[in-house]
Order: sequence, then structure tokens, then C-alpha cells
Amino acid sequence: MFVKWLARRWNGLRAAEPHDYTFRCELHAHSTYSDGSATPRQLVERAVALGLSALAITDHDTACGARVAMPYARGLGIELIPAIEFTARWDSCRQAGWSGDVDVLGYFVDLDDASLQVAEAAATGDIAARMAECCISLTKAGYPVTLDEVYALNPRYAGMRFLRELLVRKGYVSSEVEAGRLVHEHWLRVRPCALTLAQQIRAIHGAGGVAILAHPGYIRCDGELLQARHVAELVALGLDGLEVYHRSHDEAMRAHFLALAEQFGLLVSGGSDEHGWSPDLPLLGTAPVTREMVEALRARHRQRLMISERAQMQQREEG
Ligand SMILES: [Zn+2]
Repeated sequence: MFVKWLARRWNGLRAAEPHDYTFRCELHAHSTYSDGSATPRQLVERAVALGLSALAITDHDTACGARVAMPYARGLGIELIPAIEFTARWDSCRQAGWSGDVDVLGYFVDLDDASLQVAEAAATGDIAARMAECCISLTKAGYPVTLDEVYALNPRYAGMRFLRELLVRKGYVSSEVEAGRLVHEHWLRVRPCALTLAQQIRAIHGAGGVAILAHPGYIRCDGELLQARHVAELVALGLDGLEVYHRSHDEAMRAHFLALAEQFGLLVSGGSDEHGWSPDLPLLGTAPVTREMVEALRARHRQRLMISERAQMQQREEG
């Protein structure tokens, strides 16, 4: 009797269990192609060693990390979800003390898509130009630095991380935290990102991808977390989903973004945002991403492909 009750109770618990623990994956990780410390190959090898089912390398403004990783992933039998994380300007939330930069993740993008590559070139060019402006601003303030010195730390990407490192190396500040404050102060004087959120969502969609707002908890609109009126605007721009499970979000934030995602029928994703600042990549695969989340992203991508194929067929028929 007790055994039967226990079995029923166990099965009941299992049925109610939201996560499939046989599935682990990483949807947000950076490589040396932007501001990560691990090479794409190292990320793939670590993901395999951890037993992850899938990995997305989401470098800032370039999908080259994903391109380089693809053959290693194929060779080691792990799914590599082709991805990118574009920087974009969202004017509705520009305000004092914030540059208006937001990040939008693109999943299942076609890495060979020519328009995606054009968008990547524009995005990396824009960040480099703004970084050059930031260097000039710092130099004028008595901290001489150049874009070339930033590139000397990573020739592939002019990330803020390298500017912070440079300020510490040159002895202008004594810690990364202090450097962060200084960079932030001068970044606010730099012109805003030339590429709008609408443009970057279109670039992702144009390459068959799914656009997810990265770590929404970092964004403040009118001094507060994203609210329904802001999300309504994002939906109108074509956004597909929110990165609810990010390490910067506490329980209350997760609940807030989950509720918004549900209200607007948005997809939900997550990722650790591993940058490899510790060589053994301890964050990789730690965000609670479920198989259902990944399959929902894939389904949206397939839907988008079908729509674009249909549109192309129609065009051919009409032409
Ligand atoms: Zn990121």
C-alpha cells in the first residue's frame, strides 16, 4: 500500500517537474572573436566535456566565433546553434546615465547569409568608431589611450573590456572596477550606436534568425525595469523573445520577465553569458535552459524560413 502510494507520489512529482535534467545546453557564450577569453574551439571542447547537448556562441556584433566553431562542433558531435549578439540603440529607453545600448541575440541565423555579413561589418565598424571616440574623450581628460592600443589587446574586437584592461595596465586606475566607472563615464559622451534595435532585429530575421532581447534586467526605462508598455513596443519591432534566465536576474526579475513573456506570447530563453574570465569556464551550461525553450526557438526559425520561401516563390510567380 505504502509502496504504491510512494510510486504514485513519485510519478506525480516527476510529471510536475518543469525541467528535464538529461538536457543541458548553453545559449549565451563569448569567444575571442569578441570579448571572451576562450577560443571557439575551447568553448566547443568544454561544452562537450560538460555533456551539453547544444551550444550557441553569441559573440558581440560578429558571427565569426560561430563560423570558426562549426567544424569542431560537427567533429565532436555537439549541436552548435549559429548565433550572434548585436549591439543596438533603443531610443525609447535612452536617458541620463545610460547610453541607450541594448543587446539583441540572434539564434539560428544563416551564417552564409550575405545581408547578415553586411550587418556584422556595420556593427563592428560602429563599435570601433565609438571606441575611437571614447579613447579621444579619455585622452582629453588626461588618460591618453588610442584605438590601436585597444586592438593590441584583441585585434578582432574593440570591446570595452579591453579598454578597461588598458587603463589598468597603463596605471591610470588601480582596479577593473575603477576602470569600469571611468569607461562608463566617457562612453556616455560618445555618440549613440548608429544601428537601431529595429535594424538589428531585421538583420537577424533576414538571416532566418530568432531575435531575443539579451539580459533585459540590465535595461532601465524611465528609471525602472521593462514594463508592459515597453515590451509592447519591442513586440511591434518584431522581437521574438526575452532572455529571462540570465545570471544577473534574481528570482523577482525572472518572475517579472516570465510574466511579460507570457502576456505578449514571447519566447523565453536563457544563458550564462560566459566570457571565460576564469579559464575553466565555470559558468558554461549553468543557466536553466530547457529542451522546450531550444525547440521553441528552432520552431520559430523554421516558421520564418517557410514564410521567406513562400514570399520568394510568390515573387518568382509574379515576376
Ligand atoms: Zn553576451
